[in-house]
Parts: sequence; structure tokens; C-alpha cells
Amino acid sequence: EAKDLGRNRCCFYNESRQALVNSQTEMAHALKRAIDNQEFSLYLQPQFLNNGSLCSAEALIRWLPHEGGMISPGSFIPIAENTGLIIPIGEWVLERACQYLKELDRYRRPFMFSIAVNISARQFMDDKFMDKVMAIINRTGVDPGHLRFELTETCLVQDIDRAKVILNQLCDIGLKIELDDFGTGYSSLNSVNNFPLSALKLDRSLISGIEKKKSKKAIVKAALAMAKAMGMSTIAEGVETKGQIEFLIKEGCDMFQGFYYARPMPFKEFTAYLSKNYLQANLPAENAKTR
Ligand code: C2E
Ligand code: MG
Ligand code: MG
Ligand code: MG
Repeated sequence: EAKDLGRNRCCFYNESRQALVNSQTEMAHALKRAIDNQEFSLYLQPQFLNNGSLCSAEALIRWLPHEGGMISPGSFIPIAENTGLIIPIGEWVLERACQYLKELDRYRRPFMFSIAVNISARQFMDDKFMDKVMAIINRTGVDPGHLRFELTETCLVQDIDRAKVILNQLCDIGLKIELDDFGTGYSSLNSVNNFPLSALKLDRSLISGIEKKKSKKAIVKAALAMAKAMGMSTIAEGVETKGQIEFLIKEGCDMFQGFYYARPMPFKEFTAYLSKNYLQANLPAENAKTR
């Protein structure tokens, strides 16, 4: 499995070609070609409120080589980060997400529907990050109130003062910031206290097996209580069972995302999914609870 090869060895495995590409430069070239050939697709995974209604989605990139197959972001995003190619890829992702939001205006959708976009540390640290974000928002005409950025702590700790300035600028235009991968090595309580974050996103590693593990239950319970005390909303990622959801609802988790509900899907499929699964028009804004 490509994932098992580990990030350090910098390889990815293209199932379609049954070939292992393992030199960093070769991979950089392949990625560059993929950009030029428009081989990326931005999938959406639905997110749900604790009353079961669809409220938003996370945008997740997929590499679909023209030869066939699919390369998951877990194997190429680290390379894109190392080579700087994450900058153009990240811009493409944000622009596409904004286009989706505009397109979804034409559908029956939750009143406060939003899309969460993953921002990598290298992208966030780029001097032109904020200018590019503003340019894309202006170009697409999207309401920033419908956009959320998922950041990991790695984005925030490299230059705390700068991070604060940027986060405040994003908050000022109504964009929401969420701390991704909470509960992994990439996040700690320090960031939660220091930055204007609207939500805490519990990592799948905390959620999996929670029904059976007492210690995980305790950690998740504490994280949810802490987030609530600090006025943040909470999202659980990677929910796969009813048992997990029942526990999380009992402990006050606000939002859910995972295979139990739906997998990430191409935009067209998502619009069909939305039509089928979203029946109540104009959910009150306060139900889509975020700060
Ligand atoms: P992430 O941001 O933590 O995204 C959640 C990952 O969990 C996604 O993997 C999603 O498909 C997966 N997932 C969701 N629910 C379940 C579930 O119930 N079970 C299981 N087993 N998995 C679930 P994916 O799409 O492979 O993305 C992996 C990582 O790649 C993301 O983790 C994110 O860090 C990065 N990534 C994905 N798209 C982008 C992007 O557009 N830009 C950047 N910078 N990073 C991205
Ligand atoms: Mg994410
Ligand atoms: Mg995550
Ligand atoms: Mg993650």
C-alpha cells in the first residue's frame, strides 16, 4: 500500500500504471504535468448537524491521471508541499471551491451552506497568501461567510504574530477558521488558546474505536467540553458507526463527517446527493452553528 511506504520516502503509487515513482524530481514533474493537464478534481464530502441535516461540505482534492486510476492526496500533497507546487494547486482548490459555492446558489441548499477548504502550511506561510485569497474571493464573487479554512497547528506555530494578523484579517471578512487534525501530533491546546478559531475538528484517529476505548472517550469528552467552554463549535471527522455518533451527540459534538453518512464525491454527484438529502428549505441560520 502506498500509504505504508511512508511520507519520508516520498513515493507514491499509481494503481493504474502499477508503477512506483520514487524520485522527488520525477514526482515533481508528474505533478506539474498533472496541473497543466488539469488532472485534478475537487470532491466534496457532506457534513451534518447533530439533528441529522446536511449543513456543509469539506473539499478534498483528487488526482485522476488521464491514464486512469486515482492518486489520493495523502500521497501527493506532501510532495506538493516539499516542491512548492502546493501554491498553484492550493489556489486552484480555493478557486474551484468558490465556483462550487456560486454554482450551489442555483440549488435548493441549506441557507448557511458552507465549504471547508484545507490550507497547507506552506501555502499559509506564503507572503502572497492573503492577496491571493482576496483576489479569488473578488473574482468569483463568493460570500466569504460561506467559506471555512481548515488549518493545522503547523500553519500557526511557525510565525505566531503573522498567523494572528492573517487569521484576524480572515475573521474580519467573515471567513471561519477551523483547527484540523485535533488530537494528532499536529495540534495542541496551545493553538486553541491563542487564535481566533471558530471550530475544532476532531481527527479520525480519536474517533475510530471510541465505542470500545475508555481512554479515547475521556479525551474526546474533554476536548468537546473545552471547545464548548471557549465558544468554539466541534466537528467529528471519520465517523463510521452509529455507536460513535450516539456517543458524540451525547457529549455535545455539533457536526459530523464520515463514511457513515457519505464518502467524498465529485461535484455533480454532490448536487444530486443534496437534492435527495436536503429537504427542508432555508434552515434558520443559527442552526448552522459556528462563531
Ligand atoms: P483531512 O483534511 O483530515 O481530511 C479528512 C480525510 O479523512 C479525507 O481523506 C477523507 O476522505 C477521510 N475520511 C472522511 N471520512 C472518513 C471515514 O469515515 N473513514 C475513513 N477511513 N476516512 C474518512 P483524503 O481525502 O484522502 O485526504 C487526506 C488528507 O489530504 C486530508 O486530511 C488533508 O490533510 C489533505 N488534503 C486533501 N485535500 C486537500 C486540499 O485540497 N489541499 C490541501 N492542502 N490538503 C488536502
Ligand atoms: Mg481537513
Ligand atoms: Mg481532518
Ligand atoms: Mg487529517
